[in-house]
Amino acid sequence: MALRNILTKEQPGLYKVCRPVKDFNSRLHQLLDDMAETLEQANGVGLAAPQVGVLRRAVLVLETNVPEGEPDQLLELINPEIIESSGEQFGPEGCLSVPGEYGLVRRPMNVKVRAQDRYGNWFEAEGTGLTARCFCHEIDHLDGVVFTSKCERMLTEEELTGSEREEEEGEE
Ligand code: ZN
Repeated sequence: MALRNILTKEQPGLYKVCRPVKDFNSRLHQLLDDMAETLEQANGVGLAAPQVGVLRRAVLVLETNVPEGEPDQLLELINPEIIESSGEQFGPEGCLSVPGEYGLVRRPMNVKVRAQDRYGNWFEAEGTGLTARCFCHEIDHLDGVVFTSKCERMLTEEELTGSEREEEEGEE
């Protein structure tokens, strides 16, 4: 496994539509393993292949809604599509390609996706809350859409500092 560089918002590769994955081979597996390591090192909850410069429809989403004491589950979604969504959430969103900036984005509260695993088998996965947000955000990346274009507004410096302080208080 190896770390890959994460493209930032200035780089044109982030705004291109990605092509479907057709070969479920060792090259794809290497990409997914590298993406997992890159995501973990960046301490993120999701990563799309175009963010590491590969214009193919593959994403990782960290499912954090797991029973207490169990580890987060890393989902590999190849050629994913949203097949159902319901409800609504409105809140701050960020992106590893837009470091340090957060904006308010409206997303569905519940999302069901259909995708292939690394061997090409189709499966369905459901997400709620942060996981639903993450499904939408990562699949947007495959169509060259970065969250800043869907933002109602970006959070200000004061709001960012404020929310960090709240989080610190929450941990105590
Ligand atoms: Zn992103």
